[in-house]
Amino acid sequence: MPKEPDFIHDLNKQQKRAVRHSEGPLLIVAGAGSGKTRVLTYRIAYLIQQQKAAPNEILALTFTNKAAREMKQRIQQLIGDQAKKLWMGTFHSVFSKILRYEAERIGFTSDYSIYDMDDAKNAIKQILKEQGYDPKEVKPRIIQRRISDAKNELIKPDHYNQKFVHSTLDDITAKIYGIYVERLKQNNAMDFDDLLIKPIELFDEHEDVLEKYQDRFKYILIDEYQDTNHAQYKVTNMLANKYKNLCVVGDDAQSIYSFRGADIRNILDFKNDYEEAVKIPLEQNYRSTKAILKAADSIIKNNSQQLDKTLWTDNGMGETITVLDNYDERDEANRVADYIRDLKARKGYDYSDFAILYRTNYQSRVFEETFRRKGITYQLVGGLSFYQRKEVKDVLAYLTLLINPDDDTNLMRIINEPSRGIGNKSLSDLMAKARESNQSLWRILENVEEADVYKPAENSVKEFVAMINELKQDLASGKKLINVTKKLLERSGYMKALVEENTPKAMTRRENILELENAISYFEKNNNNPTLSAFLQEISLITDTDKYDEEKPAVTMMTVHAAKGLEFPVVFVVGLEEELFPVGSRNNEEVNIEEERRLFYVAITRAEEQLFFSHCRSRYKYGEEQRKLRSRFLDEVSSDVVRTETGSSIKQDKERFLGKKNNKDKSSSNNGNTKVEYDWKKPLYNKNNRSSNNTQIHYDNPDEDPFQVGAKVEHDVFGP
Ligand code: ATP
Ligand code: MG
Repeated sequence: MPKEPDFIHDLNKQQKRAVRHSEGPLLIVAGAGSGKTRVLTYRIAYLIQQQKAAPNEILALTFTNKAAREMKQRIQQLIGDQAKKLWMGTFHSVFSKILRYEAERIGFTSDYSIYDMDDAKNAIKQILKEQGYDPKEVKPRIIQRRISDAKNELIKPDHYNQKFVHSTLDDITAKIYGIYVERLKQNNAMDFDDLLIKPIELFDEHEDVLEKYQDRFKYILIDEYQDTNHAQYKVTNMLANKYKNLCVVGDDAQSIYSFRGADIRNILDFKNDYEEAVKIPLEQNYRSTKAILKAADSIIKNNSQQLDKTLWTDNGMGETITVLDNYDERDEANRVADYIRDLKARKGYDYSDFAILYRTNYQSRVFEETFRRKGITYQLVGGLSFYQRKEVKDVLAYLTLLINPDDDTNLMRIINEPSRGIGNKSLSDLMAKARESNQSLWRILENVEEADVYKPAENSVKEFVAMINELKQDLASGKKLINVTKKLLERSGYMKALVEENTPKAMTRRENILELENAISYFEKNNNNPTLSAFLQEISLITDTDKYDEEKPAVTMMTVHAAKGLEFPVVFVVGLEEELFPVGSRNNEEVNIEEERRLFYVAITRAEEQLFFSHCRSRYKYGEEQRKLRSRFLDEVSSDVVRTETGSSIKQDKERFLGKKNNKDKSSSNNGNTKVEYDWKKPLYNKNNRSSNNTQIHYDNPDEDPFQVGAKVEHDVFGP
């Protein structure tokens, strides 16, 4: 056995034990910032260095592609280029690769399409229409959600029918689910959920395939195990069954995806499933100051169920956490911006040291506007990703057809885009023919003269088929991908239509398509075997968080969900208001407060040195200003590590309210660094009076308040 590597000394005692652990299941449940991800990384490097396994015999599963990339880079630094051969990625990317190798075993081809949420929704919508449902009444999104839940619970369509038929919606779901599964198979397509459940089918039905991969993966490691769902749990158990070298790390307090079926029990049950499992705690946090950890601890204590864990740090107490009490969302964004500038100037931080974390994506808008105005560079993670833009998806749909013409959903998307005179009527006739004869739409198009459609449409179809066939030919004869794409854009008339439209929007679309061409060129230059199939697969699995670039000198804005596993020197958790964080109920679904609290815990524990909370007293919603109550979570934070700063706008408003003269200089010179004004723990508004029409305004310094509770008053902004 080779001598132990020097890098083992980068670890503390508990971490070393976890890294050196050789055979059998290993469970690490530990708090945020205790080095779980670091242990996984080092363990992989160690296993290779100690020749326990070759790199391609190790499977490491992460929550984002970006996490996988970073882990790989780090391992490369530790042991060199052999790290490139590791099987490392998200569940989706690793299993889509395995499915590509084995697709034929379960009736797909290796060029199968991957449907994102949007494609899947379109397919469901189409089926609903065919079955005579009005998609306005039976919402495709809701059916999609129900089908997805069933899939992740490994409930098959016929089973859904037997067991779960209670309501009309259940009936409809069962019916659509069955057709949807069939349709996807006909289209040679899989949705995101299939990438997790098809491997289970594959392994269940083909023992030899299962054995092959069981043999292959001598060691399996999973990060963020608390957020795996039932299907993920099952497939890894199947794979680990031979060697039982399964190492999982996670933190039950950071489980934040139960809405997507993540099952915290997976972590709780690990010991039952693997009785011989070794459990190693990690107790030292290297990330955060004492103040930040204390805040985190005081929050999570309020949840009822927690695994026992200790977390301590050698780091100093650090700065007190500041609560920014703001007038509204503009005030909030301004003050955060001013703080960032101030800290950058005074303490030498870079923009990339800051993160703004919020509960929902739309909150970024006001921050973006403000930061642009103030000249602060930022990067937004999330929102509509490049590859989800209409024009990009259109071009990708064309490309998909070149390798998978049976994919009706993508074919429908572009057959008349740009318009080539194949109208809805002709199209639905053709589609009906396809359904009748149980063929794909493409097969019908190929023999359109037999289909008896409107003559001009027939001619257009013929031209379309000829074009696609010619491009297929080009591809088959080894023409470069980028050239095929360029030809496609020209021959289809897609670019021409945009140029003719000549609106600013069309110009942006054109630029996006040029950017897509760049992506294709880049892919072609940087891959040994740059097939169209591989390209399409790679980009269909790009997620929001992958866009985040650590090196970019910019403030990061993202949702708390996207921030999982990351760390930043200075963090602002904004919008800490009731019905925002914790989130308000949607579709009357009950809000899972414990999960919201774990989410808040995740947010807090991203911070290394300095942490800010912020909330607004009013916020625009549906075009109207609404009063907001500060989040209950703020009242749970241990009071000795926080202080509150009330914004100048609130003071001005108060002065207006009190009829005092407004001091104009104040707002411009004040960087939000107002002195602490009141006991921060005290609620801003009387909690018994939550109605937003209530005219009693409770300012927090009772000495300044000339009104009796219950007095009727007239307010400049809020009226009587
Ligand atoms: P999370 O729960 O947020 O995913 P984690 O437990 O995965 O956190 P890591 O991200 O692995 O924690 O580690 C947190 C930080 O502490 C990282 O910057 C890491 O490099 C550092 N760190 C971990 N262990 C050590 C150590 N022994 N010595 C020095 N730094 C360490
Ligand atoms: Mg981690």
